[in-house]
Amino acid sequence: MTRLDASGDVPGFTPGDADASAVALDEPRIGPRSVMLEPREVPLGGLRSMSVRRSLPQRSLPTIGHWCFVDRFGPQVTTMTVDPHPHIGLQTVTWPLSGEIRHRDSLESDVVLKPGALNLMTAGHGIAHSEHSVRPQTVMDALQLWVALPDDVRHGPPAFESHPALPSVELATVDGSRTHATVVMGTLAGVASPATTHSPLVGAQIDLAAGSSTVLPLDPRWEHGVLALDGDVTVADAHGDQLGSPARDAILYLGDGRDEVRLDSERGGRVFLLGGEPMRESLAMWWNFVGRSHEDIVEARRAWEDGDGRFAEVPGGRPRIPAPPLPHVRLTPRTRRL
Ligand code: MN
Repeated sequence: MTRLDASGDVPGFTPGDADASAVALDEPRIGPRSVMLEPREVPLGGLRSMSVRRSLPQRSLPTIGHWCFVDRFGPQVTTMTVDPHPHIGLQTVTWPLSGEIRHRDSLESDVVLKPGALNLMTAGHGIAHSEHSVRPQTVMDALQLWVALPDDVRHGPPAFESHPALPSVELATVDGSRTHATVVMGTLAGVASPATTHSPLVGAQIDLAAGSSTVLPLDPRWEHGVLALDGDVTVADAHGDQLGSPARDAILYLGDGRDEVRLDSERGGRVFLLGGEPMRESLAMWWNFVGRSHEDIVEARRAWEDGDGRFAEVPGGRPRIPAPPLPHVRLTPRTRRL
């Protein structure tokens, strides 16, 4: 297993390899891997005492399937206050683990999100939203994930959907008991989430009982990662060889070409499976925007700052979050180095 440091650098990695490995995504693709992607603490701008732990993107790996952003917010006693801000080119997948979040957006959606339910916002060409705790100073814990939209969808209209109930799938264990998984996005073991997706992928929460050993089926055409949420998990390959034990908020990246892995837990735990068809397009990501080029980002920032109608108002009268200044260098698309 390779372990990456918090900055995402691969020890001993040669930057000149980046282009070659990006090209190598054609068949056969990546191959089985076991790379530990460690999270880093990221303070959220303008908000005192709030930070998230971010495990994707990594400097060496911008995406897993079309998943391009993985943040864990909490658990912490706080008042979540995220005022209106814009997005382009992505879907936000909000999956609360504790606490209730009120979502409002420029399509006039107004939804209180509870654990077990999914909010899925498709930014397309442009959307703005706000997210606030329903109650002040309560235990808040949530995943916020982004899915990059493919090039033919990212210029389309924005959309919002909320799914109060999601399908579950029972996975086999070595001792004959059953492990419960919730299919949040895409498909797992032939069970599909009702959420709208634009690329072949999976996002699923898997609840592991103490002492369990679960067989997790994977699509060998897809790359996957196992994000640890709580408790303990050890991932092993189909032969029983250990691949790694991600600590909370770390992702064990598995590459592609695997039919299954085994998830063992001593004390019990929860993990979130991320996977999908590897992306062939490189992304330019900055602030809340996902594009393909420096110019995409500059134009989205200008439209937000000018209030020119690309991003409609979010009802509620909260102040808009201003865009930070652009960096002094050109934004370059992120390439895969794993
Ligand atoms: Mn947002």
